[in-house]
Amino acid sequence: MNNTYLGVDIGGTAVKLGLITGDGNLLFTHTSPVNFDKYKTPIMKTVLREIDCFLSKNKLVSSDLLGIGVSATGQIDPKSGIVTGSAGHISNWLLTPVKDLLENRYHLPVSVANDANCAIIGEHWKGCAIGFSDIIMITIGTGIGGGIICNGRLLSGHTGIAGELGHFSIQKDGTMCSCGNIGCYEQYASASALVKAVREALPSFHSYSKTDPDQINGKFIFDQVKAGSIEYQRVVDNWIDNIAMGLTGLIHIFNPELVVIGGGISQQEELLIVPLRERVLSKIMPGFRKDLQFRSAKLDNNAGLIGAVRNLIEKGAA
Ligand SMILES: [Zn+2]
Repeated sequence: MNNTYLGVDIGGTAVKLGLITGDGNLLFTHTSPVNFDKYKTPIMKTVLREIDCFLSKNKLVSSDLLGIGVSATGQIDPKSGIVTGSAGHISNWLLTPVKDLLENRYHLPVSVANDANCAIIGEHWKGCAIGFSDIIMITIGTGIGGGIICNGRLLSGHTGIAGELGHFSIQKDGTMCSCGNIGCYEQYASASALVKAVREALPSFHSYSKTDPDQINGKFIFDQVKAGSIEYQRVVDNWIDNIAMGLTGLIHIFNPELVVIGGGISQQEELLIVPLRERVLSKIMPGFRKDLQFRSAKLDNNAGLIGAVRNLIEKGAA
């Protein structure tokens, strides 16, 4: 199999592997959990084992591949491929030398980048952002992931960890954030923030006695809105206002032509993307509205894998 790369997407709950051609076609994937024993087994031990299985299952040896592109959770030093910052709940992850571990075992070129950055690179290469050169992407999930492409290139910053779009404050006296600051954007605009807001408002809802708080997730909430619940709609409206507030600032700073919304919840075109666009357009200064588009991410949870391989190719490492 010529001209093929291995994409590795290491998340907090699972690792996803994929064989990807040099022009970005995803051939086979495999997903495996990484937190089965609360991370007592280091994530990379699981990743190396799963890569070995994946290659042998597809009758490949490492010399059949051109390189390994890795998308990883946390802050990653792109030069050394070491995890330099970690969400607190993942033990044994900080300072993991991801790049060295893979290079030493497979003797191939390896690049490692943050998962949200890989997502925007993937969408730019093969997804909803093809042909655009100034893009902001936010991925709405447990937190908010971010990536920025300026003049066609990923904004990486001095140490390669720029684009932490979940962690600028929109509330001076707000909620404490996992990063140590107060009132961060992701505390108000993530999917978790929406679920938390609904749970808090639930006792005042007519449907309170019939609703199990444990069943509330993004899909459940949007299903209630689709069924005509004014109460759920009100909470969702307030949450969309929060997302719009942060995006307004980001658009004023970066002047993008495209805003990409990622995460499972971004597929709610009519109930999220359309009203979000309207609200942002009503808030931003007129000069920033020119040609500005809003799109939901297209590559779903393959964006990290595909972007990781593109990142490797762009770096000229393979
Ligand atoms: Zn924060």
